[in-house]
Amino acid sequence: MTVSPSGTPTRPASRRLGPAVPAPRRIGDAAPAAEDAPRPVLRLDGVSKVFPNGRAALRDVDLRVPEGDFMFLVGPSGAGKSTLLRLVIRDELASSGHVIVDGDDVARIPRRRLPNLRRKIGVVFQDYKLLPSKTVRENVAFALEVTGTPRRLVRPAVDRVLGLVGLSDFSDSLPAQLSGGEQQRTAIARALVHDPRLIIADEPTGNLDPLISWEIIQLLLRINELGVTVLMASHDADVVTALRRRVVALEDGRIVRDEIGGAYHRET
Ligand code: ADP
Repeated sequence: MTVSPSGTPTRPASRRLGPAVPAPRRIGDAAPAAEDAPRPVLRLDGVSKVFPNGRAALRDVDLRVPEGDFMFLVGPSGAGKSTLLRLVIRDELASSGHVIVDGDDVARIPRRRLPNLRRKIGVVFQDYKLLPSKTVRENVAFALEVTGTPRRLVRPAVDRVLGLVGLSDFSDSLPAQLSGGEQQRTAIARALVHDPRLIIADEPTGNLDPLISWEIIQLLLRINELGVTVLMASHDADVVTALRRRVVALEDGRIVRDEIGGAYHRET
């Protein structure tokens, strides 16, 4: 197994998405002084997940995702990919082991600090999960409103991310008026609007044709270049192979491969 080096890729000097929403730490801010190595944005230490029905979805998973990584999580259906992602956003709790996001053990974060965790992680789903009765702008703004962002900061933040994903001209459209790719870009804008440190994308191209999938991947790569760590579960072998990024493969709840520049299939 080739383990990912702990170093992070070189990034442009300015990695900030732009001034808008104040947060304790912003994209582009220097990492806090650590002893030596940079603190990983995400760390899993000996994580297992056994569901109440006895099904073991993850078995003793160790994983480090340094800041700036673009990492694919691959593996057959049922391998544990979604479970791993759900543990990171504390949709589920690990049965044993620790899930550490930006230095915090997610299982120990007190309820009142949970919005803080949610702001650090932007989530993108295969089926977009947009609110059908809200416009593009309202869908993105809603993510800020529910976390109590002051009204005067919402509009500039929304404009900024809609510009970033190329949807400024669609801000008043309803999701039903958009193509699949445009809906996914809306979802990416919503995931970005908090200036997250980590974007988690669960099969974000699963409902899109190859050309549009490629556009979405390009967008995620651009966001990664701005300094946001990206963790993407994918079945899309072509994309994973072409990009030669870090690939972590799960099988039956275990990490069976972790390599930089890896292909989707072990043989390729
Ligand atoms: P993947 O995303 O790789 O397809 P999942 O993480 O969805 O895999 O599932 C891993 C395993 O855990 C599967 O066997 C699945 O059936 C099981 N599983 C997932 N969620 C639950 C649940 N809530 N209760 C019981 N078993 C579950």
